[in-house]
Amino acid sequence: KTAEPLVRVTGLTKQYGDTLAVDGVDLTVRPGEVYGFLGPNGAGKTTTLRILTGLISPTSGTVRVLGGAPGQAQVLARTGSMIESPAFYPYLSGLDNLRLLAEYAAVPRRRIEEVLTLVDLADRAKDRFSTYSLGMKQRLGVAAALLKDPELVILDEPTNGLDPAGMRDMRQLIRELGTEGRTVVLSSHLLGEVQQICDRVGIISAGRMVAEHDVDDLRNDRELVIQARPLDR
Ligand code: ATP
Repeated sequence: KTAEPLVRVTGLTKQYGDTLAVDGVDLTVRPGEVYGFLGPNGAGKTTTLRILTGLISPTSGTVRVLGGAPGQAQVLARTGSMIESPAFYPYLSGLDNLRLLAEYAAVPRRRIEEVLTLVDLADRAKDRFSTYSLGMKQRLGVAAALLKDPELVILDEPTNGLDPAGMRDMRQLIRELGTEGRTVVLSSHLLGEVQQICDRVGIISAGRMVAEHDVDDLRNDRELVIQARPLDR
């Protein structure tokens, strides 16, 4: 692929007091790719994704998302994200929670039904959010991220804490997003997971990008797999 990258990050750093959370990260995400950001807890994944979504600013480095700076209105309009557990009203239904969000974002009502179907929550849409399993809550978070029909979807540890069935459903959903042609950037601490659902993987450790690979190389190259294996717990 020679298309312009959708995300281009060079020399990214983020300093919190004495902690260098992100230490010179370069990464490129191409259109239509499912990109996995793999690393253990505290490696700097969340910090990087928060910078990509414009929630926080970098200490230094260059970040271009969809041809603009993160947090610019025209970039936000084309990006959907789920960073940490999404906040929904527990006593409202999944549907009503999405209706509220859709109103703020001027999203057509028809789109709400579409995203609920896409995340396989149409049957439970009228049930209170508080009755949902963690997996369903996370999928509603993805539904919210998809309301604006974004080209780029950023998901921070979307399977974290889920039971096996919840993980399976979420992974399948992410693969579907990729098949639909959306560009997805997600973080994970599970090698097996990124092998299953990603096209390309960046391995981050202690704020540094240790390696970046096509997932096929990660499958075939024994050395690489051994290198990445300790992350897979
Ligand atoms: P996790 O999976 O636990 O979220 P992560 O790879 O996403 O891990 P980050 O959350 O980005 O890692 O954290 C990277 C480092 O930066 C950690 O040492 C963390 O303690 C530190 N850190 C993150 N946010 C802050 C903050 N707001 N203030 C101070 N230190 C922070």
